Amino acid sequence: MAETLYHYIGGQRVAGAGERTGDITNPATGEVIAQVPFASGDEVRQAIQTAAKAHPEWAAVTPQNRARVMFRFKALIEANMDELAELTSREHGKTLSDAKGSITRGIEVVEYACGISQVLKGEFSENVGTNVDSYSVRQPLGVCAGITPFNFPAMVPMWMFPMAIAAGNTFVLKPSEKVPSTSLRLAELLEEAGAHPGVLNVVNGDKEAVDTLLTDPTVQAVSFVGSTPIAEYIYQTGTAHGKRVQALGGAKNHMVVMPDADLDQATDALMGAAYGSAGERCMAISVAVTVGDKVADALIDQLKPRVESLRIGPYNDPDADMGPLVTRQHYEKVKNYIDVGVEEGADLVVDGRGFSLQGYEDGNFIGGSIFDRVTPDMRIYKEEIFGPVLAVVRAESYDQALGLVNDHEFGNGTAIFTRDGDAARNFTARTKVGMVGVNVPIPVPVAYHSFGGWKRSLFGDHHMHGPEGVRFYTKLKTITERWPSGIRQGAEFIMPVLK
Ligand code: NAD
Repeated sequence: MAETLYHYIGGQRVAGAGERTGDITNPATGEVIAQVPFASGDEVRQAIQTAAKAHPEWAAVTPQNRARVMFRFKALIEANMDELAELTSREHGKTLSDAKGSITRGIEVVEYACGISQVLKGEFSENVGTNVDSYSVRQPLGVCAGITPFNFPAMVPMWMFPMAIAAGNTFVLKPSEKVPSTSLRLAELLEEAGAHPGVLNVVNGDKEAVDTLLTDPTVQAVSFVGSTPIAEYIYQTGTAHGKRVQALGGAKNHMVVMPDADLDQATDALMGAAYGSAGERCMAISVAVTVGDKVADALIDQLKPRVESLRIGPYNDPDADMGPLVTRQHYEKVKNYIDVGVEEGADLVVDGRGFSLQGYEDGNFIGGSIFDRVTPDMRIYKEEIFGPVLAVVRAESYDQALGLVNDHEFGNGTAIFTRDGDAARNFTARTKVGMVGVNVPIPVPVAYHSFGGWKRSLFGDHHMHGPEGVRFYTKLKTITERWPSGIRQGAEFIMPVLK
């Protein structure tokens, strides 16, 4: 029988109170493996109030002691890596090695949070006026919320709550209803590491839970990662309710391949970046822009046999390059995009639609696909497919390639492959994208830098984790004080000027 999941509130596993639930399926078999409760508004409010109650005591813990909790949390994640990867892969479908890689990227954020005492250190100015000193501190906001997508069940929640909690906030996390188990386990581990009950709460659910987080006046800030239409909705609704919001959306990441690029290196990069995790990464490369037909022809010649021979298998197949898509619905969506590309007149060089894996006929497996001669007016170019489908767009010049990157609706990541430093520098300076790689296909910033896109890939002012994460989850306060006491200044009716 499928297991029934729960919420995690105030340090307890709490059974769902309502009727509404969702199915969680094993993407490799289509089998229902768990039922997840969808929280009602009242259940979410209970979690928010629990977080609010836990806040004063947690905020009073010294930053160094909060950092010590993070050190223990990191060690516990490492000790439980196999279990966390299994939970992630079983619900998402990605290979275990890929899951472990993404958890490691999440751990990097915890490592950064271990330095919270250093990054929260304020600024102090002595004698800004005679006997007057001034200093700035960053203080926590209170209750913060996170809403996360299906594609990184561990890493994306870990972009958020370790920074928020290390900074002295308490947190309510609403993970994707397709992959909730990793978040539930992480909450238990954080508590084992020493966080007080109620510091990290996990509520499962859908729009009803999200809308409660967006409108409840106790929630001070909302971090969101997901698709662009929902990110825009989250930003508009959350800010209309007076909250800070950072809402990261979808992507269509272009990799420009210059005529002088090392083609073997570019091909390797494209294989991993377009097909790793079955293309279900917001930093996946979904468009290769070749500069000149010669590069395009040579690149396709190299890619075609490798895409045709991708090893595709269930998450626990150690030889698999990629697993199935997350749900049957998503599989249908990706397959439909391939139909659309054919109808639009793109040249389908490798067709993944016919792929089937013996013994896993009910799984959401799809082969890798490549479209050549894709043009900017096509839907398969404009829209995010989020599957193992690479579009090759042939540009005639570098300027045309750069124009494509800059004119696209999304601006999450991009890369240029070249041996020409002038071209690379021009690209990094002029491209209107948040994260840029030079001979690096997936330029996901390390945790002590910040992650985020431009244009319709991010709504809000702050990127995630790193210094931007600290700013997002804290408020700046500046104190001006005069000591010693007892010095009379007399009444001053003009705008005070420190002397
Ligand atoms: P999604 O937008 O469908 O869901 C994300 C979250 O929003 C989930 O928790 C979901 O329950 C909730 N949600 C869904 N519909 C909602 C609604 N109508 N109202 C309120 N909440 C709603 O995204 P997904 O399919 O889970 O994830 C894939 C998307 O996430 C892709 O577009 C991908 O590019 C994007 N993504 C972006 C980044 C980034 O850093 N920019 C990272 C990872 C994923």
